[in-house]
Amino acid sequence: MQATVRLSDAGILAEEARLEARLLAQHALGFTREQLITRSHTPIDNTQIEPLLARRLAREPLAYIIGERAFYGLDFYVTPAVLIPRPETELLVEIALEYFAEMLPSVSDTSLPPCPPVIGGSEDGSGEGALADIGTGSGCIAVTLAKHLPEVQVFATDISTDALAVAQKNAERHSTVVTFLQGDLLAPLRDGQRLSAIVSNPPYIARTEIDTLAPEVLGEPHTALFDIETDGLGFYRRLATEAPDKLQENGLLAVEVGHGQAESVAALFTTSGFAEVAILPDLAGIGRVVRGIWRSWPKTASDEEAESL
Ligand code: GLN
Repeated sequence: MQATVRLSDAGILAEEARLEARLLAQHALGFTREQLITRSHTPIDNTQIEPLLARRLAREPLAYIIGERAFYGLDFYVTPAVLIPRPETELLVEIALEYFAEMLPSVSDTSLPPCPPVIGGSEDGSGEGALADIGTGSGCIAVTLAKHLPEVQVFATDISTDALAVAQKNAERHSTVVTFLQGDLLAPLRDGQRLSAIVSNPPYIARTEIDTLAPEVLGEPHTALFDIETDGLGFYRRLATEAPDKLQENGLLAVEVGHGQAESVAALFTTSGFAEVAILPDLAGIGRVVRGIWRSWPKTASDEEAESL
């Protein structure tokens, strides 16, 4: 039976089954798309395709089988140690790039390619040209930003050493330099470090939603999917309260959020003292990114008293 039909019989959407069958065949045979088309009249050796097809029929994510996924125009290595990059996360990259273009036009490279594999910024990563991607996974956000902002020093943290190994390979694949740090959220960043931007696509699925997830999603690392708290907002609470310590004045905090979470996350940002809090919709009109600008710590009564002396 044809691969496309078998895939759709296994529950894969009909419109995706054809594309997936082609990508599996390309990968199994080591062909480009063009080679597959021009050789379509010659018989294909099914023994090469069959093992890959069997994995996909068992609902293993396509990206893990072929070992990569495109994100913001770049191909990223992926393994089951990392979340598979999603198209909606590209909005977070765009928001960060817009911020740098407005705030620091000198560091923004809007003319890609070429992109020199050089790194600027100050030695210790403080100062205007530094950002951090928290929970970097495959590194798709950090590496894409490093590619487009060659003079900005890019840090990326993750609790998983296996994920960081994949992210490091992706940084090398795209000739970018990213400083990868292992640890919990912002903890691995140096004390006193002041960044111009912090971005994150943290785990935001509540564990109670586990039964609603497709088998492919459940094949992704659960630490990358699920929030530590029951409402899906645990990482946002921590980011909103911990980020101000690491942001310079007018620094950006931007996060991707799950469907229906934007208002609650925006409220957390506001409560933490962020200004210009905004919800940005994705192409489907769903609030997908929340961002805020860190001005400075609000003055306390004792500050005001001290100033009036
Ligand atoms: N930053 C990575 C991504 O956006 C990983 C996110 C995660 O593991 N939650 O794909």
